[in-house]
Amino acid sequence: MADDNKPLNFIQQLMAKDLEAGIVDKIVTRFPPEPNGYLHIGHAKSICLNFDLARQFGGDCHLRFDDTNPEKETEEYTQSIIKDIQWLGFQWDGEIRYASDYFDQFYAWAQYLVRDGKAYVCKLDSDEMRKNRGTLTTPGANSPFRETSIEENLELLKNMKNGLAEEGSMTLRAKIDMASPNISLRDPVMYRIKKMAHHRAGDKWSIYPAYDFAHCLEDAIEHVSHSICTLEFSSNRPLYDWFISNIPTPSRPRQFEFGRLNLSYSVTSKRKLNKLVDEGHVDGWDDPRLLTISGMRRRGVPAVAIRNFCNSLAIAKTDGVVDLSQLEFFIRDELNKSSPRAMAVLDPLKVVITNLPEEHLEQLVAPCHHEIDLGERNLPFTREIYIEAGDFKEEYSKKLNKKLSPGRRVRLRHSYVIEANDYLKNEKGEVIQVNVTLLPETLGKDPIDGVKPKGVVHWVSADNCVECEIHTYDRLFSDPLPDGGDCNFLEMVEKESFSITTNCKAEAGLIDAEVAAPYQFERQGYFCKDSQNKDSGKLVFNQTIALRSN
Ligand code: ATP
Ligand code: MG
Repeated sequence: MADDNKPLNFIQQLMAKDLEAGIVDKIVTRFPPEPNGYLHIGHAKSICLNFDLARQFGGDCHLRFDDTNPEKETEEYTQSIIKDIQWLGFQWDGEIRYASDYFDQFYAWAQYLVRDGKAYVCKLDSDEMRKNRGTLTTPGANSPFRETSIEENLELLKNMKNGLAEEGSMTLRAKIDMASPNISLRDPVMYRIKKMAHHRAGDKWSIYPAYDFAHCLEDAIEHVSHSICTLEFSSNRPLYDWFISNIPTPSRPRQFEFGRLNLSYSVTSKRKLNKLVDEGHVDGWDDPRLLTISGMRRRGVPAVAIRNFCNSLAIAKTDGVVDLSQLEFFIRDELNKSSPRAMAVLDPLKVVITNLPEEHLEQLVAPCHHEIDLGERNLPFTREIYIEAGDFKEEYSKKLNKKLSPGRRVRLRHSYVIEANDYLKNEKGEVIQVNVTLLPETLGKDPIDGVKPKGVVHWVSADNCVECEIHTYDRLFSDPLPDGGDCNFLEMVEKESFSITTNCKAEAGLIDAEVAAPYQFERQGYFCKDSQNKDSGKLVFNQTIALRSN
């Protein structure tokens, strides 16, 4: 059943009990995204939870689009969601389901409630309805349309559906209890008029169902056993149950709530993400600074790191803010274990090995990973190479004894030991070239004179390397809670959170790097090839994450 020897979370305990008591004979869960934006890390938590529960209990998990509001929903979002779920490593049971395929059934059940005297057409406008609703401490007032006859209600509902009534002029409401202490039960709206085509259902409908009416019925049609949602829906639960008890649905699902995932230094709300994208604060939904699934993928975050992070989170009945460093821990952990190693020089300084001939070309071989078998790679080694400018010092100092400096040695990673002789500067006084001597027979061996170098530096061949650009990303927000309290998250956007380093040189084999496949650039961090081509034809590598947290 539940794996990993972890204690069962409260939903697993509930499911185990329900199965044992025969309350359900199969666990059926669902992930029900509304296609009005791209998926983010919060959705990943819900996806992992729902799909894993079904798997653990030998049940099914459905993918169902909750596409009941045509205003903001699009096919582009639908396709992105499908791609992201599969990329995360999950496969739903059966066909993809769409709430819009159930529109006829919802309408028939709405008529059923009207006939049963449990729903009515209300002509109050939204302001009047708000006033009549009452407050947490005062009861609401009955709508004057509450006692309209069943025949007239059926007629009005038909007119609403057929586009014969104006938008905002009437709604269909459930007739429950305007004095209920639970505001959700104060005659909630079931249908609104929206004279708008639907991206899947076409222009057949002029009314669209409200979330509370539609969602429980979608679950019931699909025989969902446990409908898991986030805590803000707790107070809607009695309404969920009311619809299920008052409508002859083919099954009786129940709703359970768990805490939403919030992460520091980020926003996880489609509405806010949409704003960042629309107002151009970021480079689209897949901007590598966003915690959207597509942004993390573009940045080189492995799907398994996201799953491991989600599985590490408590499934609790409280909301909380998880520190972003916790996600970063799982990303680093996975990348360290599994990403192939490579060398890239971000701030190149030319080094000339004066005791090698001009045409020298030697293919050195290095493992792609020091622990797991990822094969080997060739490192072309030539008379001219690049090292990191910061790895050369004009003056030797004890503190920086791992650097190359005149008369001193370093080992070139996976290669020979070199010793610096002299160097050249430009008019600005910057060092532009270092001349060195190579110590023969030091490939994999210490120098015979016993003077071992202290430092090891990475390098690339100057004639056989890949020109590239490195894009580095920092936290998008300067504040740990950009949307907390009175904060306007748009004002918290850190302008400097994206920077470009041009003129980088990467080892030759990276010309074949796959988009989004992460590498560890030794001593630098984790990087992956970006999905977008540069006009310059230069490769772009995104920094996934630094080697260590700071
Ligand atoms: P958003 O606030 O980002 O718009 P939403 O809840 O409106 O999110 P939906 O597409 O309706 O987005 O969500 C699909 C599923 O994902 C729901 O079951 C919802 O409970 C869950 N979900 C959304 N955000 C989070 C989150 N931050 N943590 C956990 N689950 C989430
Ligand atoms: Mg929603």
